[in-house]
Amino acid sequence: MNNLATLLQAASFAAKKHRYQKRKGDDAEPYVNHPLEVANLLANVGKVADYDILIAAVLHDTVEDTETTAEELTGLFGATVCGYVLEVTDDKSLEKSERKLRQIEHAPHLSTGAKHVKLADKISNITDITNNPPAGWSKERKIEYIDWGEKVVAGLRGVNADLEDYFDEIVRKGRAKFK
Ligand code: NDP
Ligand code: ZN
Repeated sequence: MNNLATLLQAASFAAKKHRYQKRKGDDAEPYVNHPLEVANLLANVGKVADYDILIAAVLHDTVEDTETTAEELTGLFGATVCGYVLEVTDDKSLEKSERKLRQIEHAPHLSTGAKHVKLADKISNITDITNNPPAGWSKERKIEYIDWGEKVVAGLRGVNADLEDYFDEIVRKGRAKFK
């Protein structure tokens, strides 16, 4: 299968896996809009042309948020893609606060491919926090999320200047809105 065909297969796979999930914003968008946006940011803001990274972006929340297994991803999309997805997958057996701390600590140690996915993931989530936030989140909680996102991204810098500049712009806009 060629790269484009595999990317489309991954998009279709993710859409099926996330089919019952919605984003937490008031307009309850289909969850798959988010991984598709992460891949879109990588391709069109970050100018990423590495298909393993784009495919991993589309799949990045399948192991964390659906019943998808690593074996399934390796079998369909290969070990490199599966590796990137696992690198950005939180250990859900840990407390939320511990998971958030680990993301900050692990960020500098991720592979270059996983750093790209994580960076675009934070851009997508902070954009959503700004424009379509989870229901019931106070201004303080939104600011707290942006503060944490900046700490994670501090450990991801140096891989893609376009994405990093775009992240800084998104953070500026979010902070201006919640001042
Ligand atoms: P969550 O982890 O519960 O929610 C954020 C995550 O939800 C994102 O990282 C994203 O992950 C996903 N998501 C789905 N829909 C949206 C959307 N529309 N916009 C943005 N993200 C979306 O929240 P927190 O990260 O805040 O984690 C909990 C923390 O919040 C705790 O550490 C706690 O201390 C703090 N807290 C603060 C409160 C306050 O008022 N200050 C109150 C309660 C908790 P993905 O990419 O995986 O989809
Ligand atoms: Zn995500």
